[in-house]
Amino acid sequence: MYNLLIFGPPGVGKGTQAKLISERFGLFHLSTGEYLRKAIDEGTELGKKAKEIVEGGSLVPDNIMIGIVKEALIKNTTDKGFILDGFPRTIPQAEALSEIFNELNFKNIHVLHLTADEDELVRRLLNRGRGDDTEDTIKHRLHVYEDATKPVIEYYDGRTIIIDGIGEIEEINAIILEKLKDLG
Ligand code: ADP
Repeated sequence: MYNLLIFGPPGVGKGTQAKLISERFGLFHLSTGEYLRKAIDEGTELGKKAKEIVEGGSLVPDNIMIGIVKEALIKNTTDKGFILDGFPRTIPQAEALSEIFNELNFKNIHVLHLTADEDELVRRLLNRGRGDDTEDTIKHRLHVYEDATKPVIEYYDGRTIIIDGIGEIEEINAIILEKLKDLG
């Protein structure tokens, strides 16, 4: 059983690795970005609120995101553990998540931190070409990452597993699986 957070800048490969890890161990995978994109596609109330924010590369308000994650974790029925991808992205989100973990009695949380240099991130994002992967929006998202999200690394200081996100998808995945094995 693994309870994991996967953390890193836009374009580092969080979503790709989170999917592989969740498939390997049967974990509940919650990508807050995917959750929002689905809501936007479906035109739900949340989608209408989030559309401009997500498309502009800014952050959806903390209270909305915290509510989504809390509800999803309560509803989750797998007993194999979970992987959160794209959350927490701010200090208030990290603080709220700690409270949720306390309330739900989730223990042994591990944080995977994927890294890559900015040139590589920009190159990958431009290649991916999602709606929010235009040059200006990428710049803004990297800025938001530096400002709002990077401090979250310190919040989990000493409890993160740092992984070099540059290389082949399968190689990086193998390194992650090896590190997870060490956790027992
Ligand atoms: P990436 O990691 O490439 O930026 P994501 O799919 O994780 O892609 O996120 C896409 C967008 O969804 C973000 O730029 C942001 O607008 C919104 N988003 C996702 N997660 C959160 C969150 N935890 N808090 C606020 N906004 C979020």
